[in-house]
Amino acid sequence: MTATPPLRKQYLTIKRRHQDAILLFRIGDFYEAFDDDARLVARELNITLTSKPMGKNLRVPLAGIPHHSLDRHLATLIERGHRIAICEQLTTEPTRGEGQPGRGLIERGVVRIVTPGTISEPGLLHSRVNNYLAAYTTDGAMSGIAYADITTGDFYVTELERPQAEEELLRIGPSELLLPRSFEAKEFPYRGFITRRDDAEFAAVPARLMLLDHFQTRTLEPMGCEQWPLATAAAGALVAYLRDTQPAAAGQLTRLTSYRTASFMTLDPQTLRSLEILESADQSPSLLRILDRSRTAMGGRLLRRWLKQPLRDPAEILSRQSHVAWFLAHAKERAELFSALEGMNDLERLIGRVRSASASARELLALGQSLSLIPQVRSILQRDAARFGSLLTMLPSCEAAARLIDRAIADQPPRGAPRQLIRDGFAEELDRLREVLRDGKKYLAEIEQRERARTGIKSLRVGYNKVFGYYIEVTRPNLHLVPQDYTRKQTLTQAERFITLELKEHEAMVVNAQERIAELEASLFRRVCSDVSKERREILGAASTIAFLDTVAALADVAAEYNYARPTITEDAELTIKDGRHPIVERQLPAGTFVPNDVAMGGANEPQILLVTGPNMSGKSTYLRQTAMIVIMAQIGSFVPASEARIGICDRIFTRAGLYDRIGRGESTFMTEMIETAAILHHATPRSLILLDELGRGTSTYDGLAVARAVLEYIHNHPKVRARTLFATHYHELTELDQVLPRVRNLHVEIVEHEGELIFLHKITPGCAERSYGVYAAKLAGMPRPVVRRAEQLLGDYEARSSARGKGTSGHSLRGAPASGADLLQALREIDPDTLSPVEALMKLYDLKQRACAEADKDKNSAPRPSRTNAATTSHQK
Ligand code: ATP
Repeated sequence: MTATPPLRKQYLTIKRRHQDAILLFRIGDFYEAFDDDARLVARELNITLTSKPMGKNLRVPLAGIPHHSLDRHLATLIERGHRIAICEQLTTEPTRGEGQPGRGLIERGVVRIVTPGTISEPGLLHSRVNNYLAAYTTDGAMSGIAYADITTGDFYVTELERPQAEEELLRIGPSELLLPRSFEAKEFPYRGFITRRDDAEFAAVPARLMLLDHFQTRTLEPMGCEQWPLATAAAGALVAYLRDTQPAAAGQLTRLTSYRTASFMTLDPQTLRSLEILESADQSPSLLRILDRSRTAMGGRLLRRWLKQPLRDPAEILSRQSHVAWFLAHAKERAELFSALEGMNDLERLIGRVRSASASARELLALGQSLSLIPQVRSILQRDAARFGSLLTMLPSCEAAARLIDRAIADQPPRGAPRQLIRDGFAEELDRLREVLRDGKKYLAEIEQRERARTGIKSLRVGYNKVFGYYIEVTRPNLHLVPQDYTRKQTLTQAERFITLELKEHEAMVVNAQERIAELEASLFRRVCSDVSKERREILGAASTIAFLDTVAALADVAAEYNYARPTITEDAELTIKDGRHPIVERQLPAGTFVPNDVAMGGANEPQILLVTGPNMSGKSTYLRQTAMIVIMAQIGSFVPASEARIGICDRIFTRAGLYDRIGRGESTFMTEMIETAAILHHATPRSLILLDELGRGTSTYDGLAVARAVLEYIHNHPKVRARTLFATHYHELTELDQVLPRVRNLHVEIVEHEGELIFLHKITPGCAERSYGVYAAKLAGMPRPVVRRAEQLLGDYEARSSARGKGTSGHSLRGAPASGADLLQALREIDPDTLSPVEALMKLYDLKQRACAEADKDKNSAPRPSRTNAATTSHQK
């Protein structure tokens, strides 16, 4: 039996500890994967699978990645859902023939395990999006969530009831989630990359100790989570995981912020998606893209966070608003701020890389140049010290770090020119060594001159190559002139190369100097990085102030260009918007053609529910969505596309946007619609805003109508719900509800009919639409002429028949027209229970009861009420 070679042994020992990851084992300039890992890597990266001899008679499968292309390949492997352990060489000797008899072994160890939540390479990250790693734990009733971005140092915790926690987790959208090993995740909504950790890491007491040790404090009181055992457990588990997998990254988390979801408006992922707040489903821009005029990645990330978490505290909103107002009023300062920020790199991520010793000279320089712009920003704020006093204290100038980098780090040379890491004049020894090399060049020129004179060979040349070092080259015809003390080194076709003792000594000196320079530069670079890292707190403080300024100035910039107004924030349920516009649609239309519309609801004498009817494509959805967007914009502190607005703080926006469903998302079934609507009814409060863009389609007309009406009644009547609601519908029958529910008001989109063509005015006005114009929409959509003609004819027939029946006594008006005992009996006789669905039966029962009650009322008051049997209502009768 042959003994396992030491290198193989070393590999196997390390691999045993990282069974669940692909182990990339550094050998020289390559990261090598062996055995099954090699097969997997070769397949995933589409690279050649080879093999490597490992001792006598043993070849193992091998797939190698050149070290310089690691980032690119990591990106692919991470995307495919793999976990990758990076094993580096920890010592440099021996360089060749490692593991062979008589040679030693380089020490190796896994320096980090890369997963989607722990990547830090700029190339693998989106600069304007935070990349979160989260941890979650629950005791069944309550749950704790912690999440962190290791590239920026953001670290948050919260503790809340389990169902809300699950929603919050989806809102955060972490790219990786840590869960206790025993946690049953079958019903869990998170669908991303899950990493299981031992339950012990989620135990409150050790987790607390882990945090105390990490932050070097004696209490978690300042972080606000001393009373939150589950939040503490999640945060502790997160730190433990980072310590385990990325010791350098754990150190990035230097602050912990606890928050309550109650401070923010809740926007669930479905609402964010259907309102296209962060991303849009098609070519049109999202709200984020419309608003994001920020000049830095930090500002971009902050605006995204604001949009995911609009505020609920009026004072906080006003504070942001007042800064937006200032930058709106000070266009010159806004332009100056932007021009300073144009050159500002991502301070948060750069300082993170400097601290974890992974920054390149280019990145360090970028950090220095960015820091040197801070005084410019400060000088803008100093012009209104009364307003910006507290922001100024939160914007340290970071001069020491900027100066140090400027003094120490050499400018990046143009491509191809020799690289120099540390500037001349920064370290004496380095300058001296460089002098030696410069003198050496002169000295070589001298040797050349001298030897030409001594030998009489005019073409004699002193040269250098990597393999042979320094040499004196003599062409063939001159070889007879070569002196005795030249030693032959290399033979070429046209010339011979020689070495002399003097040249050899010179070579040794040069090599020594070069090695020492490289060593010195590396250690000076590390020292500069570590000195700059000491300023990390100040730099991060400056970064968040800059992100804030960038974001408010960006909002001011949009407000200026699109003439947005400053909304008044109120603590009641008022929602008044004058001349509201849709921030995205208005930009897609020619300037000035978007028709502004008003909203008035929620106030003392205003309706709670607005029912919007109108033909297809007339602008109902646009009206609903612009209202929600205006509320969101107001609550992040932005100005809004309207001439005036009064926004009573919303705790949550719900959307049930049937028309925007896409079958591809598997959400278009009636059942999903009902599940979502049920969730709205369970969670809405009088502070919420509900958008129902069509409800109850996808089932029979009666069922749909019944559900839609019942839902509206519930929202209207239930004291715990009573949310402000905008409902767009084609069910004209529902418009009668304004007669029975006092806080319902009908609105419709105005149209003009002209010679058989419809002209959409997009103006929302009181009252209900007369017809649906569905057949007209079919015509516009390019249906074949015969189909349209036939549909028009059928529609005419249906309408004639239903209005004839509507004149009878059994009209099923939703309002329940009064009916005498005889009428009711007749209506009962007409019912065929075998053909009714349960919902239809229930509807009939409601109808009969209401009509009976109305009749009783009539008798009581003995004053006859007008019977309003709407033709449209009966058009759906069988
Ligand atoms: P459907 O019932 O078919 O869903 P809808 O009534 O909801 O239609 P929207 O989708 O809101 O109609 O609007 C259709 C188009 O009309 C928009 O894409 C936009 O181009 C235009 N539009 C909507 N509102 C306005 C407006 N206020 N001013 C100008 N154009 C508008």
